[in-house]
Amino acid sequence: MTRPNIKQGSFVAGKWYMPESDRQVKVVNPANPSETIFDFPAASEKDATYAIDVASEAFETWKNVPSIQRGRVIWRAAEIARRRLEEIAHIMSLEEGKIIRESRGEALKGISLLEYYAGEGFRMRGETLPSEVSDVHAYTIRRPLGVVGLITPWNFPWAIPVWKIAPALVAGNTVVFKPAELTPGTASIFVEILEEAGLPAGVLNMLVGSGRTVGEAIIQDPRIKAISFTGSNGVGMHINEVAAKRGARVTLEMGGKNAVIVMEDADLDAAASAIASGAFGATGQRCTATSRVIAMPQIQEELLERVVAKAKAMKMGAGLDESTDLAPAVDSRQFDTDLKYIDIAKADGAKLIYGGNKVDINGGYFVEPTIFANVSPDMRIFQEEVFGPVLSIYKAKSFEDAVRAANSVQYGLASAIFTQDNNRIMRFIEDIEVGMVHVNEPTIGGEAQLPFGGSKATGVGPREMGEEGINFFTEIKTVFINYSGSGAQASIR
Ligand code: NAP
Ligand code: MG
Repeated sequence: MTRPNIKQGSFVAGKWYMPESDRQVKVVNPANPSETIFDFPAASEKDATYAIDVASEAFETWKNVPSIQRGRVIWRAAEIARRRLEEIAHIMSLEEGKIIRESRGEALKGISLLEYYAGEGFRMRGETLPSEVSDVHAYTIRRPLGVVGLITPWNFPWAIPVWKIAPALVAGNTVVFKPAELTPGTASIFVEILEEAGLPAGVLNMLVGSGRTVGEAIIQDPRIKAISFTGSNGVGMHINEVAAKRGARVTLEMGGKNAVIVMEDADLDAAASAIASGAFGATGQRCTATSRVIAMPQIQEELLERVVAKAKAMKMGAGLDESTDLAPAVDSRQFDTDLKYIDIAKADGAKLIYGGNKVDINGGYFVEPTIFANVSPDMRIFQEEVFGPVLSIYKAKSFEDAVRAANSVQYGLASAIFTQDNNRIMRFIEDIEVGMVHVNEPTIGGEAQLPFGGSKATGVGPREMGEEGINFFTEIKTVFINYSGSGAQASIR
């Protein structure tokens, strides 16, 4: 194994350091758990307090740097990231496990986000509106919030940190960033890139440690003005409670249980490709992964055959092997969860059509692409997030029944429909209860300039990416300038 040449430890006040701690951050290669990739001391509560002290001080300067200049730092980071793309992709595939093609795609998506938010430096806009009173100039300006806490999961270890950190910095905030302990290398390479791009010391601080210790200390600190979190519902709702007590702003992106509806007139080849890539791509470890197919009875068998053929053709292996199609689960816990849900589905009476087994390749956390038919909407496999390569198929009675089944879950992230019928497409767009709607394409994906996020139990607070990202990390000041010379007032005020 080539050991990545990436800085290790935590990063505060512009310096890399090894925290004093009795806990270690230990990361192993999920395709071969006998290989240790990182093993260094974890940050603790004390480090969180220190990082927030530093970020509070840095805010006093950073908030007054023109947003255009702040954007230029992000622009330089985009250029450096493009140059270091292979390194970024390599570390992602090594520690998270995902296949190298997907890692390159994620690296590129992060670069688009950097480019987009660099440009937002030129557009930190307020508005000018008329006043009720003559000789009054009324307008708004955007101001940063202060120190913000950014907490990210392991499954998109590059793109999610980028889509939180870039808008937070361009808007003039300073940051305490806690990446998932499973993917510190990808987070560290991003911090290195921002350092090289000229970000002043103290503006971005990263603590690598566990959620329960250092994460908890960040969210509890009253100096943290806003928290942007992506991860599980349990942790997200806890953060929501903590933040609500002191009126801190939150945006929480959480679980998904995404459905593809396939109508009788669908292009079945296109639908099968979209379903296979949505369900088994990234080993099903995407919040937007396809985990349910809701198909019309006329085409169900034929669709199933095509999806099974695609699953059969997938080659399992290490993400770094260019010929791999399906990578392992990220760790032993996710691996156990995948296998547990396969057992639950069988016990609840779903019919196993393909896969369902663990596979031993170098002791890695491999689970076959797995497909269940005869699934009904009340089964746990239809309702609960697995976060693995496990797909369920429900045979719907009608278009209305399909939409009802799709909407029957607590989550509301992404959904897709395959049909040529324009009326149904428009009905689906109206009635489906999700934040991200796809027509004749997979459930996965988002783009830098477009808002991303979910409704119902998936999301609390505003969307991320696009302009929404800047809105979240700024507040508005409304300004009245009275140039009447007499301070004339309107009774309406
Ligand atoms: P997780 O366990 O909730 O962890 C997310 C982050 O929160 C990690 O950095 C974790 O730290 C930290 N954390 C844990 N407990 C904390 C606490 N008490 N206080 C503060 N931070 C704490 O989620 P995960 O297992 O990493 O990720 C999988 C989940 O993310 C899935 O449910 C998936 O659907 C969701 N997800 C959603 C989206 C979306 O946009 N909707 C995107 C990607 C993933 P450590 O793990 O390092 O201890
Ligand atoms: Mg976790």
